[in-house]
Amino acid sequence: MRVLRVALDVPVAKLFDYLADDRRPAGPGDRVVVPFGGRQRVGVVIEIGESSSVSIARLKPIVRVLDDAPPLSADWLEQMRFLASYYQRPLGETVAGALPPRLRSLKPLPKRRGASANPAASGAPRYVAGHEPNAGQALAIARICAGLGSFRTFLLHGITGSGKTEVYLRLIAKVIEGGQRALALVPEIGLTPQLEARFRQAFPDARIAVLHSALQDTARTHAWLDAVRGKAQIVLGTRLAVLTPMPRLGLVVVDEEHDASYKQQEGLRYSGRDAAIARAKLAGCPVVLGTATPSLESWFNCRAGRYELLALAERAVPGAKLPVVGIVDLRTDPADHGLAKPVVEAIASCLARGEQSLVFINRRGYAPVLACEACGWAAGCDRCSARLVVHAADGCLRCHHCGAEQAIPRGCPTCGNVDLRPLGRGTQRVEETLAGLFPAARILRIDRDNSRRRGVLARTLEGVGRGEGDILVGTQLLAKGHDFPNLTLVCVLNADSALLSTDYRSAERLFATLAQVGGRSGRREQPGEVLVQTRYPGHPMFQALMHHDYAGFAQSQLAERESAGFPPYVHEAALRAEAIRLATTMAFLNAAAQLVPAPEGVRIYDPVPHVITRRAGYERAQLIVQSASRPALQEFLRAWSAALPASAPSGLRWHLDVDPIEFD
Ligand code: ADP
Ligand code: ZN
Ligand code: ZN
Repeated sequence: MRVLRVALDVPVAKLFDYLADDRRPAGPGDRVVVPFGGRQRVGVVIEIGESSSVSIARLKPIVRVLDDAPPLSADWLEQMRFLASYYQRPLGETVAGALPPRLRSLKPLPKRRGASANPAASGAPRYVAGHEPNAGQALAIARICAGLGSFRTFLLHGITGSGKTEVYLRLIAKVIEGGQRALALVPEIGLTPQLEARFRQAFPDARIAVLHSALQDTARTHAWLDAVRGKAQIVLGTRLAVLTPMPRLGLVVVDEEHDASYKQQEGLRYSGRDAAIARAKLAGCPVVLGTATPSLESWFNCRAGRYELLALAERAVPGAKLPVVGIVDLRTDPADHGLAKPVVEAIASCLARGEQSLVFINRRGYAPVLACEACGWAAGCDRCSARLVVHAADGCLRCHHCGAEQAIPRGCPTCGNVDLRPLGRGTQRVEETLAGLFPAARILRIDRDNSRRRGVLARTLEGVGRGEGDILVGTQLLAKGHDFPNLTLVCVLNADSALLSTDYRSAERLFATLAQVGGRSGRREQPGEVLVQTRYPGHPMFQALMHHDYAGFAQSQLAERESAGFPPYVHEAALRAEAIRLATTMAFLNAAAQLVPAPEGVRIYDPVPHVITRRAGYERAQLIVQSASRPALQEFLRAWSAALPASAPSGLRWHLDVDPIEFD
């Protein structure tokens, strides 16, 4: 008797047995239709067994084998097993989450209409060489090329504008010339069009499969099939692209490796960067992590000799220099409507020179709330313990945690005061203030609120690149990866909220954001200038920023992390729960903490409510488990997650997050 063990999309950590049928031969990696719970489902055969714990009489045969796509490869199945085990998720859910929706539905796959514009992948595509590499680039390329054909992790630490993309392109050229495939990841959907454009310029007749979550079903299915069939020489996409099966994978690139968007915050809570490293290891190829501001984890791994550090210390365009960073001390230059005098003057002279400036508002840990100065009342959400955020353009208050919306009240509900004002400054208010100060300037506001529609952001950014807009007002959306030749001034209005945060990662993130946003300026011949408004000009982070001293900053942060016992010196997992009442949540977590005794070297902390405890009507808390040893933590998590589900009361939701990075 032969039994097919099938992974199905159900929240149970086991495989389901079906009878193999000689008329419908199936093996590991085949997608099969099976009867399950009175209906049919698509599953993936993981292995073939000789026996089953279910009696033969009760075993059902599979319905059919789907052969509209190649079987999933053995190394892909291996990757799924690794992810499921590392992140403590059932294999069935992991496999289902990695496949595009159409591949796990009973509907037939969409047919490609008309002939493809791209030629077939036989033969290596032409590479249109870009700039002749400078010494730093040449060295990085040589080191990585020497490592092709075996697994190794490289950290390409290149300052903004140092030509990291050129390095990726030459490596990819080398890899695809040899008949292999390359995988390149970017942190945000918004960055894919730019990188895609540069890839298409460099490889005009290559087939590039672009994969991200905003793609429509058909487009995503086609791109995925191109990758699986090996027709695409290059796969480019956001973190989910790392889950695509690819034959002959020869190189993995992770751009902006430090970016928090690589971490998935639901379902399989994987890190796209870490999954990329694991993927390269399975494929036996190098992985290149590129960034101007490495994550402390990666920096630590370099220092420990696990990754090889390659540095690009100069801007690639001859004559282009890193911007001059200046600090505006708000204690001596107080802000008026959010802008200190030196900042207004700098914008004025930038305008006079005919150059662009960017006014940057750090959104993290910050939001304009509606408050009454007479009695201290502030507008809060009924369902969450959070303040509502003022959206002046829509005339409403909105909760950023649950999305609840209400009209801006005419007066204070507590004391009747009609002079209610937003506290703090959002992008819209800064835009208004700037319009008052510079009536002739073209002001462009770029944030999530006005860039939600597909393609709008990309078009706006293209316009900015061509010189549209004199003053840009924006948030994190503007900080990443874009190249604006005429932008020479960046003003950072509210850096301090992040410095006061309780999250130990906030200094690291602020440094990365400011270095990134500063890196938008002066990328051509004109020198750039960055002005940061702060009440803490003596903070070591600003000193490091002024001297472009990432290494010094990382050194001091790592020392702090080590003495406080934080990652990367320890490994963590968070068990999070939420229920209507906090008491229920806490009772669950307290019971969970007792389920499995912590072995030597593993520490279970007491559960703590989130800073924003209530969200969408649920009260949230979490408990952290820590260990200096990753294997010890993994072993504990395996035992723990096997013990957990049984103890969950109804009305309570929980999940386990391995290597968590958000602690709101
Ligand atoms: P990064 O990704 O490190 O921010 P890019 O790869 O976008 O940098 O390069 C920044 C700019 O420098 C681009 O305009 C690019 O065309 C240019 N550039 C890259 N390498 C060279 C080089 N070797 N010589 C001259 N210009 C270069
Ligand atoms: Zn009041
Ligand atoms: Zn809410």
